[in-house]
Amino acid sequence: MVESIGFRIYKRLPVFCQNVVFSLKGLQNHHERYNRYFHNYLSWLRESEWWSGEEIYKYQNEKLRHIVAYAYENIPFYKRWFDEHGIRPNQIKTQEDLNKLPILTKQTVRDNQDELISHQYKKRQLLRRLTSGTTGTALTIYAIREATAFQWAIWWRHRARFGFNIGDSHLSFGARIAVPVTQKRPPFWRQNLMARQTYISTYHMTHKNLPVIVDWINKHDFDFYAGYPSAIYVLANFLSENNMHLLHRPKCIICGSEALLPTFERCIREVLGVPVTEQYGMAEFAGNMAKCECGKFHLDFECCCVEAIPMSSASDGYAKLIFTGWGNPAMPFIRYDVGDYAVQSKQVCRCGRESICFDSVDGRIEDYIRTPDGRMAIGMNQVFEYAPGAKEIQIYQGRLEEIEVRVVPGRNYTMQDEQALLLELRQRVGNEINIKFVLVDHIPRTSSGKFRAVVSGLTGQSEGEEELKERIER
Ligand SMILES: [Zn+2]
Repeated sequence: MVESIGFRIYKRLPVFCQNVVFSLKGLQNHHERYNRYFHNYLSWLRESEWWSGEEIYKYQNEKLRHIVAYAYENIPFYKRWFDEHGIRPNQIKTQEDLNKLPILTKQTVRDNQDELISHQYKKRQLLRRLTSGTTGTALTIYAIREATAFQWAIWWRHRARFGFNIGDSHLSFGARIAVPVTQKRPPFWRQNLMARQTYISTYHMTHKNLPVIVDWINKHDFDFYAGYPSAIYVLANFLSENNMHLLHRPKCIICGSEALLPTFERCIREVLGVPVTEQYGMAEFAGNMAKCECGKFHLDFECCCVEAIPMSSASDGYAKLIFTGWGNPAMPFIRYDVGDYAVQSKQVCRCGRESICFDSVDGRIEDYIRTPDGRMAIGMNQVFEYAPGAKEIQIYQGRLEEIEVRVVPGRNYTMQDEQALLLELRQRVGNEINIKFVLVDHIPRTSSGKFRAVVSGLTGQSEGEEELKERIER
């Protein structure tokens, strides 16, 4: 819907029609996600999460052997990749054998995207999606319908742990533009009637608009809130600063898409007075984890296995996450470096699930762009997908009135990429900010080697943002 031409038409429609378009898109999503495979997967997943550690390990190794053999037979990239490194598929028998294979980086995926699609499928029959590009490199992913259903079943299993089912009403805080940023008056929300989902435009959560937004929220009763924790934090912080309360509290807050910082979590929990949980996933479907009732991240072992490789420089227990996923045979990821880090739990979780678990996952941490009208623009990395010719992109804000877009151009980078970026950025930050493009040879990493898609050099940040900075720098 945010594709330029489509969005230009959408923008001109009256709100009622935008809600119809939004619901139609919801209907399409509904068919892609909640098809006949979905319900079978969900009921199986609700049983398998209680398997013993032994059963889990055995199951994962079986799946691993299968996907390695399958990839070698059917996917040109893996055939070449294994041959080049002198590996035969039958040498990978258990997860411990995975380190015989090289690590697959995002750049390698990007350079070999078409060769990573299985011969068993025709590209045009597959569902296409884009990664958010939090590490500066957006990728195109192709998936079979069953994989999409499997992934959504995993996400709904997490929600089911907290008592929710499909069809429960929810308010989503996301970085998608459902309401044009140029729109100055409410409504700043759109409805997907199919999923009983209301989507609130986080780009409109300004000091000026928040009273209207709170007033509107108070006229509704949502079962749960979902989405970007930083946006839910903006709401909670506003309520707290103005000594306001919600008339109908949701039963739970389900965070995703970016890391939930402890400061944000504390504020949301205290102000809204409800449980806060989160899940960690990715468009690549290389791996997934979701928190249990005790607050630990459990690996969704049904679709993946993970290697947690300790970082030599880290004294705080953080390890690099390398995933191997078998949920999507059209484009599986073997030994994939997703660019995130986590601290593995030392004990078995009190909840009784014996899957591998993590105390914290330190991925998807980004700075925000501040706008002169007081907004914190989140998920800015989403614009990267509109410039396929760029190798890497970083957005830097040194002062309130200007953002600098640093681009490492690829061979096919043209003015079209720049114009598309500009258009998408304007949609998000409005017209009151200067946008400058700078072409660079490379984008430096942090001392721990992390790429940062959005960097803020502004001072006078809140406690939460200070914490964010420290964690990014680590
Ligand atoms: Zn647990």
